[in-house]
Amino acid sequence: PLSERSYDISIGTGNLAEVGRWITSLRSVTHAVLISDANVAQHYLNPVSESLEAEGIRVTTLVVPAGEPSKSVGTSQELWEKALADRVDRKSIVVALGGGVIGDLAGFIAATMTRGLDFFQIPTTLLAQVDSSVGGKVGINLPAAKNIVGCFWQPKGVLIDTAVLETLPRREYLSGLAEVVKYGVILDPEFFEYLEANVQPMLDRDAVVLQKIVARSCELKAQVVAEDERETTGLRAILNYGHTYCHALETVSGYGQYLHGEAVSVGMLCASRLGEKLGVFDQEATKRQYKLLTALGLPVDVPKLDKEAILSAMQRDKKVEHGKLRFIVPHSIGKVVLTSDIPAGVAMEAWTDGY
Ligand code: NAD
Ligand code: ZN
Repeated sequence: PLSERSYDISIGTGNLAEVGRWITSLRSVTHAVLISDANVAQHYLNPVSESLEAEGIRVTTLVVPAGEPSKSVGTSQELWEKALADRVDRKSIVVALGGGVIGDLAGFIAATMTRGLDFFQIPTTLLAQVDSSVGGKVGINLPAAKNIVGCFWQPKGVLIDTAVLETLPRREYLSGLAEVVKYGVILDPEFFEYLEANVQPMLDRDAVVLQKIVARSCELKAQVVAEDERETTGLRAILNYGHTYCHALETVSGYGQYLHGEAVSVGMLCASRLGEKLGVFDQEATKRQYKLLTALGLPVDVPKLDKEAILSAMQRDKKVEHGKLRFIVPHSIGKVVLTSDIPAGVAMEAWTDGY
């Protein structure tokens, strides 16, 4: 459990340019493989590589196209070969500068190159800052399945500069807020209230509020992960609140229709209605989520899609055991329970009532 807390997290505003000093305060480094995507590189590659070079670090810069297709075997091979050609060795480090795609990909390169290199993350999307950079899961996709090749590889440090969120497209930013709301619902009623009280500053990407919500979200995720690092006890499953419906929605609507956080938003409301159907969650609490997510500009309504297809997608979800539907069901804001053996009919009522 200690390994989760054993790495350094630095959260600030405008601390990006201090990355060189921060890394060298953690270990001595002579060579870094800096991996980013084309969008992020345009804004932030220079300050980061200059800051590393200022510490005497030789930097190999590898920039891949932005987007999910870069989380591939082909891109990995390119990165392994380019890193090798630029004399990577076992003392080199890997620095990921980007969103969840770059974090997962660069982490996978770090885990596999020369049987494992020290890895540092600079997450640049809200989703990456509050979710994918915490927990140690890294990996790539195969054409037939997402995140199917990978491993657990903890970073040695995560540097979060909330100022980089200023250049994030609005839709990407709002999508990340859905996961923030999720942490409130699953673990922390006071944090949920804080979010309700700070809608406008969140929409304005206010620096103070951003630092608070990013820090609290990381803390909450790290707590859960620390108690169930390898997903063995089931505790980590609570992070999947809203995600069974979300994954079905993403699959059936066609990838790309919904950003992940948008589908999470719809999915959380389905899970809340499921809680109502099961008699464990009250309508007022569903309304509070509805109101908060709507105010944050997130979609909350279930679109009209083939219900059979939604159900079969939920039954195929990898979190389903032996074909029986399991959901993270909310009991109150701040408390959710992994509930097995949910009849398909009830699960679909919670979906259909969202029309
Ligand atoms: P992403 O990395 O594709 O970033 C979204 C877009 O924003 C990209 O076009 C990117 O170039 C751009 N961008 C990033 N930072 C920017 C900035 N500061 N300014 C301007 N543009 C910027 O997507 P994402 O939503 O961050 O991550 C999604 C990925 O994360 C998926 O592959 C998913 O599987 C993975 N993920 C992993 C975990 C985990 O635990 N490892 C958890 C959740 C999600
Ligand atoms: Zn998610």
